[in-house]
Amino acid sequence: MLFKTLAKSEFQKLVEAILATNEVIGPKQVGSRVDGRPIHQYLPITSFAELDLGYETTELSAKTYFLPFQETLSSFRFGESDWEQQIRYRIQPRAIIGLHACDINALLKLDRVFERDNFPSPYYISRRRNTFIVGIDHMPGERCFCRSVGADVVTHGFDLFLTEIVGDRYVVAIDSDRGFNTLNLVKSEALTEEDTQEYVAARKRIAAGFKTKVDADNLPNLLDLEFDSPVWKQWGNKCLSCGSCAMSCPTCYCYGVSEKVSMDFSEGQKEKKLHSCNLVDFALVAGGHNFRPNRQSRLKYRYYHQHRGFVEAYDQPKCVGCNRCGHVCLAGINPPDVISDLQVEERQ
Ligand code: SF4
Ligand code: SF4
Repeated sequence: MLFKTLAKSEFQKLVEAILATNEVIGPKQVGSRVDGRPIHQYLPITSFAELDLGYETTELSAKTYFLPFQETLSSFRFGESDWEQQIRYRIQPRAIIGLHACDINALLKLDRVFERDNFPSPYYISRRRNTFIVGIDHMPGERCFCRSVGADVVTHGFDLFLTEIVGDRYVVAIDSDRGFNTLNLVKSEALTEEDTQEYVAARKRIAAGFKTKVDADNLPNLLDLEFDSPVWKQWGNKCLSCGSCAMSCPTCYCYGVSEKVSMDFSEGQKEKKLHSCNLVDFALVAGGHNFRPNRQSRLKYRYYHQHRGFVEAYDQPKCVGCNRCGHVCLAGINPPDVISDLQVEERQ
């Protein structure tokens, strides 16, 4: 990895250069909570001034720019003796500015799923390849626990990654040729020994700033041991089966595909929609049998996929510790409390 330093004034010029040729997405304040704290979302921006890089987190993740909630996979037109199919998955160049380390780690996990050898998704891959990513370090929010699941530091999966240091400057990590070439559009400097020390000190401050911690050691085994724990009933009884947790999660990717054909059979579409394992029909199959008819089993399997099944498949948890699911849940269900209750249960 190559590192440089960049003055904040040069970073503004860099964003303006990126804006000239790309659709640009970034954290924008969209409102305030009753206690006055700002609400942010990743949205298209047209000027540097619209970016709010001091944001804590966004309500929804940037997943939507790679896995939209709904997309047409293909459309069909039927003629007298023939038919044609249209598949569109190319997108115009896009840049996302200001992604945090946990959200870039989330994309790396989605890469494992959608870029795998046998069944790569051209829809996901085209968006991922056509998206220039500028990440940024930040002091952890009250409820972030990304450090507990090893997602607070990112070493690849982006083009440029910024860490603020003294003197209104950033240390910039460069992880791609296009990142290097784009950075060359503005003035950057080689790191001095003091800059390196500043960078290390900044990273230590961030690591020491986590207030929420989850003991994730041995979690896959604990989940196996606590498969029948009353903790699942206790939390499952609160669940409203609304699916908001999966929709806000940067790594939940389950989906369903349906086909629509027009009444005159002249055209049709194959559509994909994201689904949530907490929804009542998630495990409903033809014939009417539902493999997960109650809320506790659906909630349990969401936690198993995050912290058990994905570990088995990819040697890492699927959860990146952003706690968006806990934040959006109207029933107050959140990973630190659920996992803590399982650990208490195990000790009894
Ligand atoms: S855990 Fe919370 S957000 Fe998720 S489905 Fe249940 S009530 Fe909705
Ligand atoms: S499960 Fe919750 S905390 Fe973990 S990545 Fe998804 S939204 Fe974030």
